[in-house]
Amino acid sequence: MSIRSQFTLFSNQELNTPTPFIYLDNAATTQKPQSVIDVITHFYQHQNANVHRGSYNTANQVTARYEQARVNLANFIGAKSDTNIVWTKGTTESINLVAYAWGETHISDGDTIVVLGSEHHANFVPWQQLALRKGANFEVVNVLENGDLDLAHYQNLMDKKPKLVAVQHCSNALGNIHPIKQLTELAKQVGATVLVDGAQAVAHIKVDVQDIGCDFYTFSGHKMYGPTGIGVLYIAEDIKHEVNPFHFGGEMIQSVTIEKTSFRPIPALLETGTPNISGVLGFDAAVKFMQNEQTQHDLASTSDLYNYLVSQLSQIDKVRLLGSTENNIGVISFVVDGESVADIGALLNEQNIAVRCGHHCAMPLMQALKVNGTVRVSLAIYNDKSDVDGFINALKKSLDILCC
Ligand code: PMP
Repeated sequence: MSIRSQFTLFSNQELNTPTPFIYLDNAATTQKPQSVIDVITHFYQHQNANVHRGSYNTANQVTARYEQARVNLANFIGAKSDTNIVWTKGTTESINLVAYAWGETHISDGDTIVVLGSEHHANFVPWQQLALRKGANFEVVNVLENGDLDLAHYQNLMDKKPKLVAVQHCSNALGNIHPIKQLTELAKQVGATVLVDGAQAVAHIKVDVQDIGCDFYTFSGHKMYGPTGIGVLYIAEDIKHEVNPFHFGGEMIQSVTIEKTSFRPIPALLETGTPNISGVLGFDAAVKFMQNEQTQHDLASTSDLYNYLVSQLSQIDKVRLLGSTENNIGVISFVVDGESVADIGALLNEQNIAVRCGHHCAMPLMQALKVNGTVRVSLAIYNDKSDVDGFINALKKSLDILCC
């Protein structure tokens, strides 16, 4: 079975009318293979029960599957143990969780927090706001003209001995892969705690959290062929004792009396309340999909398609490509000087082509690149040459209309 045929959305007649639907907004969210959809449907049709509280078979079976998903996820990212894996709603929630559950007690007046200038707002604003609450210094690493981080500036900022370095693994707006192991090592040398936003990385590159050496690593299921509303926060063994409970309620509890409450360790400590069970099971199916041999093979061929896309785009007059296309997960951003990206997006939409236009939740990056926004094309495993050709033709037509 080909990879593309596993994504039934693409065979929806309505969607492919009047012209084929071309989906190139994968950095926003990926489509879901049938295996993921089936697991979610099966859960609600045949096995629905709550986890961790059952005294009956179905609940125990669901709990076993739910916890096995944690083990599988730990293996997927090279974590030492499943107890390093906390289920969250997604990357945004994970980062905010760390900002409160760790940041409130570990960042104080005069401390320094470092982020990259290309961060998604989800890994920028929580730290900016924490710094404001605590009177800490909020330092932002400069962005070079080609969209890469200014490594010399990063190294200089390490002289300030930051308490926290929060960095993205890959840029969602430009797709460039940062030297995450090197950044982590440099931060660790000065004693910083390191959080990595891996939202854009996991669908494209093999991630090994222990090899990277970070304290926290986070990503969302929906950007790697899984469902929305589920994500992961990896918490390294050594930092667990620094993380406090954030939300209080059931399941995280060892014992409760009127006078006091004692808590269970991570991950239960951070997973109070009924979790997103179908989301975890669907996410587990997405992990299996990613690990499948054919998926691995097709992932490798995405880079050929990316090179083809970039070469086609760069032949169009007026298109100005942004960012470095070397070492890239398959994202390209561009502008047409003098034209609004929203207009380009609207004309592409009229031709049934889905791309993202705007600031991509990375306004500081847009400011550094001196643009209001970009048109972003992002590839996934099911895209093929006909998608790229269809997009390029539609873009040419759009530019003919716009630029007379
Ligand atoms: N960080 C990056 C790099 C992202 O691309 C995104 C999603 N666009 C996020 C964080 C936030 O992820 P989510 O919306 O799934 O919480």
